[in-house]
Amino acid sequence: MSAFDPYSRCPDCRFIAPPESMEYALTSDGGTDWDWPVRVTCLVCHARHVITAADVVQADAVMTCKRCGAAVTHPAGAARIGCTGCGLFLLGPDLDASQHEELRITEGLASLALRETYLAARQRAERRVGL
Ligand SMILES: [Zn+2]
Ligand SMILES: [Zn+2]
Repeated sequence: MSAFDPYSRCPDCRFIAPPESMEYALTSDGGTDWDWPVRVTCLVCHARHVITAADVVQADAVMTCKRCGAAVTHPAGAARIGCTGCGLFLLGPDLDASQHEELRITEGLASLALRETYLAARQRAERRVGL
């Protein structure tokens, strides 16, 4: 986990989470240059979107990591929280039962979609070697 992990609300799945990955320009002092688009991939549904400084949700709550015991700051209502101690993605403590269910389904569909991509790539590779 980098020290800089801007939480934002995904426009696709509407969950608040830190980015799965992000691309951004650096300022001369090594910070994030918000004058340029910051591209992030949603941790929950893997949708790619662009955020600005105004989209970053500030961390205003603290939870304890169940694995390493670190105190992790996060925005209230976040669906996934990246532990700054061990890197584990924790389930947000503020979601209700129906949000938990929606998160589970969304993440399940996303991994299913990745699996399709993976299978298609493997089939292409097999055709190339003539199997
Ligand atoms: Zn999403
Ligand atoms: Zn941890």
